[in-house]
Amino acid sequence: MKAADIAELLNEPACAHNKKEKSGCARPKPGASAGGCAFDGAQIALLPIADVAHIVHGPIACSGNSWDNRGTLSSGSTLYKIGMTTDLSEQDVIMGRGEKRLFHAIKQAIDSHSPAAVFVYNTCVPALIGDDIESVCKAATERWGTPVVPIDSAGFYGTKNLGNRIAGEAMVKHVIGTREPEPVPAEAQAAADAAGIRIHNINLIGEYNIAGELWYLTPLFDELGIRILCTLSGDARFHEVQTMHRGEVSMLVCAKAMINVARKMEERYGIPWFEGSFYGITDTSHALREIARLIGDDDLTARTEALIAREETRVRAELAVWRPRLEGKRVLLFTGGVKSWSVVSALQDLGMNVVASGTKKSTEEDKARILELMGDNTIMLESEGARDLLNAVYELKADILIAGGRNLYTALKARLPFLDINQEREFGYAGYEGMKELVRQLALTLESPVWDAVRKPAPWSTRAMVIAGPEMGDSPDGGADEPAHGHDHEYDPAPAVAAGAAA
Ligand code: SF4
Repeated sequence: MKAADIAELLNEPACAHNKKEKSGCARPKPGASAGGCAFDGAQIALLPIADVAHIVHGPIACSGNSWDNRGTLSSGSTLYKIGMTTDLSEQDVIMGRGEKRLFHAIKQAIDSHSPAAVFVYNTCVPALIGDDIESVCKAATERWGTPVVPIDSAGFYGTKNLGNRIAGEAMVKHVIGTREPEPVPAEAQAAADAAGIRIHNINLIGEYNIAGELWYLTPLFDELGIRILCTLSGDARFHEVQTMHRGEVSMLVCAKAMINVARKMEERYGIPWFEGSFYGITDTSHALREIARLIGDDDLTARTEALIAREETRVRAELAVWRPRLEGKRVLLFTGGVKSWSVVSALQDLGMNVVASGTKKSTEEDKARILELMGDNTIMLESEGARDLLNAVYELKADILIAGGRNLYTALKARLPFLDINQEREFGYAGYEGMKELVRQLALTLESPVWDAVRKPAPWSTRAMVIAGPEMGDSPDGGADEPAHGHDHEYDPAPAVAAGAAA
């Protein structure tokens, strides 16, 4: 990839970061967790396209770096679950066999799995030695008649966010607009005609079907007569990506991931887009309203309002049972990007008190939305360090930490209730139905008996105290290294726990 192409992607005009600085997304600082390379970002953005053979061209470690670390589900093909790599070795590099190995790998993937397409991800080593993956992909497409798409995403090009955009750029350049959508199935068309409904087509960009949460939304769209042409890329198929240019509206579900795709489809095909979220009742309703508004069909708008009124009433009634168990609980939310504000909104829907929100990966726009939701006294946490995070938890007397998987052990070592909100999570939280699951998981986490059990002094330390008596110097409620944590907010950030948690 040329330096000018990378600069153009970093300088994405639709990205809110660019209003502040022209450097695209923040670069990791020494000592901080980088959050993945450009290849990692490209692969996780496209891996959910289920009927594609995803080949990582490079040493096998690149493939292992990020393969399938997102809990994205497919309703059919599971080809995307098969990790494929050219497994380049030193011998291949020295002997200049990289391109040949790639050509054979593509052949093997096509012969063995008959994929709808093959995606080839470039990594650092073949990029450094100058493998021309674009030419190899072109030759393979001509030879076997299966589309082979180059994703030039060497890790050293930049961050994971840049990789997301490189992936989107490859779709815009090589895939979108190469096929027309299938006609609406006759049965569905007949039912729509009978009801006087006009069927509309939309795209969801940046929806990854984590833990199957897309399937909480599809019944709503079906009912409204809205066909999702493609979700880029959760539970997507290659032919769906090809038809995205026929969407009437694009919704950008995860703000930064593939913003360039939405912008370029607007430029090329005149498809309006907006940024929205399906987390929480308020935001789900807002997203549905916005889709109807941009489509501009009065009948659809009226039916959308009726659906929203019905669903909100139903879900709020069902959540009322849970609300007393969660109301007033203090939450420290530590996530990035669009989730930093959309989850605040979802938690506020439940009457929970978000005491602070992490904003490390948030754009200025995200931060403005957080302020709008939480008020001017909002505490925004910029640091990603475990020690700072725990200090904030203790100072703000949080009852629960909601964060990504990388903070799981920080929370557990501090004996703090923790809910995973990021891509590795096992439960879907999108839409009205997802809200019910979120509530259930919050209540189960907060009320788990394990917290009381682990906060009690260990039986052996109590026994030692009884035998030795108080002159041992231990506090009566536990051993010297067992702070008495509890829901009464008397957290004691004792040095032993702090050291363990921050380790
Ligand atoms: S930085 Fe380069 S070598 Fe490392 S995982 Fe990414 S692509 Fe592979």
